[in-house]
Amino acid sequence: MALIPPPGAPSGRAPRTDPSIDRDLREEEAFEKSLLLTTVDKALSWARSSSIWPATFGLACCAIEMMHTATPRYDIARFGAEVFRASPRQADLLIVSGRVSQKMAPVLRRVYDQMLEPKWVISMGACASTGGVFNNYALVQGVDKVVPVDVYVPGCPPRPEGLIEGILVLQDKIGAKGVKPASDVRAEAAGGDEA
Ligand code: SF4
Repeated sequence: MALIPPPGAPSGRAPRTDPSIDRDLREEEAFEKSLLLTTVDKALSWARSSSIWPATFGLACCAIEMMHTATPRYDIARFGAEVFRASPRQADLLIVSGRVSQKMAPVLRRVYDQMLEPKWVISMGACASTGGVFNNYALVQGVDKVVPVDVYVPGCPPRPEGLIEGILVLQDKIGAKGVKPASDVRAEAAGGDEA
């Protein structure tokens, strides 16, 4: 039980609290420091950000650099994203690695549609993001005309380090910042009826 100093007593001479209470307060403070409070959504986002599974989907020269990230030299496994899945139904990341021809666009969209929510898209390289040097009728001038893009990685081609940085940016968006996938944002903007 705490001892109350008499009125007017100098604070320096105020009696200390009971040692057992001091100990209880210290334990309570240590408990609060060791306690982690979060929401289920945040915990799920944190777990997802560290286990992104890309779809096995390569389009052009950029895909060679994408494959390179999975080699021991760059070791994308350090970031929990090495499990390239052969089925889009088991993947939550689509890396658009290279130029997208008009003929390939519906195929790409179909692969994207087969992936389960939540899902993310990285546009890798100048061609995927803007058409690059191929400003002609045969290529889609930016893959964001076909699928919603979360992260753009510049370069022709981007080095494996560039793609890994793109994945880290995506992890940060998913886990720490809790940013919604671009597909959700686009669907909300379209009133829940994304094309
Ligand atoms: S950005 Fe460069 S490396 Fe990538 S697909 Fe286009 S031309 Fe090839």
